[in-house]
Amino acid sequence: MDSRHATVIGAGIGGLTAASALARRGWTVRLHERQAEIRAVGAGIYVWDNGLFALDSIGAFDDATYGAHMGPAVEARTHTGDLLYRIDINGADRPRCYTLLRERLVAALVRSARESGVDIVTGSGATAVRPDGTVEFDGRATEQSDLVVVADGVHSRLRDSIDLAYRRIRMTQGAARLMIPASPDYFPAEDAVKHLEFFRGRRRLLYTPCTPDLIYLALVCDADDPAIRGSRLDVPLWQHSFPVLTQLLAATSDIRIRWDTFEYVRMSAWSRGAVAFLGDAAHAQPPYLGQGGGTAMTNAVALADAVSRPGREPADALTVWERDMRPGTERTQRTSYRMRLLNSVPDRVRNPLLTAAGRVSAFTESQLAATRLRPTINT
Ligand SMILES: Cc1cc2nc3c(=O)[nH]c(=O)nc-3n(C[C@H](O)[C@H](O)[C@H](O)COP(=O)(O)OP(=O)(O)OC[C@H]3O[C@@H](n4cnc5c(N)ncnc54)[C@H](O)[C@@H]3O)c2cc1C
Repeated sequence: MDSRHATVIGAGIGGLTAASALARRGWTVRLHERQAEIRAVGAGIYVWDNGLFALDSIGAFDDATYGAHMGPAVEARTHTGDLLYRIDINGADRPRCYTLLRERLVAALVRSARESGVDIVTGSGATAVRPDGTVEFDGRATEQSDLVVVADGVHSRLRDSIDLAYRRIRMTQGAARLMIPASPDYFPAEDAVKHLEFFRGRRRLLYTPCTPDLIYLALVCDADDPAIRGSRLDVPLWQHSFPVLTQLLAATSDIRIRWDTFEYVRMSAWSRGAVAFLGDAAHAQPPYLGQGGGTAMTNAVALADAVSRPGREPADALTVWERDMRPGTERTQRTSYRMRLLNSVPDRVRNPLLTAAGRVSAFTESQLAATRLRPTINT
C-alpha cells in the first residue's frame, strides 16, 4: 500500500469524493474546509449513472441514495403543460438517474471520507498553493504534501494563487432553488413522479421529486428578473407565466430560495506540478444537464486512481488524468453551455424546435453522453 500524503482543499462534492477515493487507495489524507461546519448548498440534486458509479466506488452509494427518487422520464413541456419531448430513464437499458437531497449526498460523502480515514479539519481556509505541494493558510502556516487536490468551488481563490490561466464567464441566467412538501394536488399521479421542465419566455421551471415527501424546484430566469425578490419568489409573476402550476407555486410563498447565477470556467490546465484542480474550480458549467457534481465525482475518482498507480510521480499521473478525463468533461460543459440558447428563443420558435429535436436521436444522445463518463485512465 502507498502511504503518501495528500491535502485536499474544500469539502464539497468534489473534494469529499477525492479525499475518500485517495484514502481508500492507501494515502493519508487531510481535508481542509473553510467553513466552521460542512454544509450542503442548494436543495435537491440529480445524480446520473456516472456520479452513481463514483459513489459506488467509494462505498457511499447505498447511504447517499437511501430514500431517493427514481423517476420514469424527463419531460419538457410548454407553459400550458403540453409535451415537447420526453426521455425515458431508469428502466432496463436506460440511463439511471437518482434525485436526492443535497444534504443526504454530502452527509454520505462525509461518512465515507471519515470511515476511509480522512482527517477533516473545518474552519481552515487555505490561501495559496504551490506546485511543489505546499499549501498556505493565512499566509503563515503551511502544509507540505505529495499531492494537493483543490476543490474550492466556482469562486476559487486558490486558482489565482498559482500560475494557471483560466476563463470564467458569469452568465445572465441563474436559478432559484427550494424544496416544497409533496402533494397530490400538483399533478395527476402518473405525472407527479416524473422530472418535468416547463418553458415560458426566458423563464423555466423544473419540478423534481426527491423523496416521498419533498419536491425540489429550480426556477431559472435572468438574474435581474423581477420574479425574484431577494430571498423569495414573486409568486403571482411565476403563476402568470405558468398558469398550470398555480397550485404548486402557491406552496412556495413562505419559503426562502437559494439563488445562484450560472457560471462557466475553463482552466488552461487542470494541474501544475503536484497540485490538481477539480470540480467547479476547474470546470464549472450551467446546470442544464445536471452534471456539475457528476463530473466532479467522476474526475475525483479518476484522479485518485491515476496517482495511486505504482511507479509514477503525481505530476506525471496528473497529466495522464487530464488527458483522459478532460475531453468528456469539456464535451459536457459545451453541451450545457449551448443549452442556454434555448432561453433566448421565443416560445413560438422554441416549442416546435424542441418537439422536432426530441425526435432526433443525436439530440437525446447529446443530453445523455455525460452519463456514460467513467473514471477510466489509460496507462
Ligand atoms: C442551480 C444549480 C443546480 C445544480 N444541479 C446539479 C445537479 O442536479 N446535478 C449535478 O451533478 N450538479 C448540479 N449542479 C452543480 C453542482 O452543484 C456543482 O458542480 C458541485 O456542487 C461542485 O462541487 P465542488 O466540490 O466542485 O464545489 P463546492 O460544492 O462549491 O464546494 C467547495 C467547497 O470548498 C470550500 N472552500 C472554498 N474555498 C476554500 C478555501 N480557500 N479553503 C478551504 N475550503 C474552501 C467551500 O466552503 C465549499 O465547501 C447544480 C448547480 C447549480 C448552481
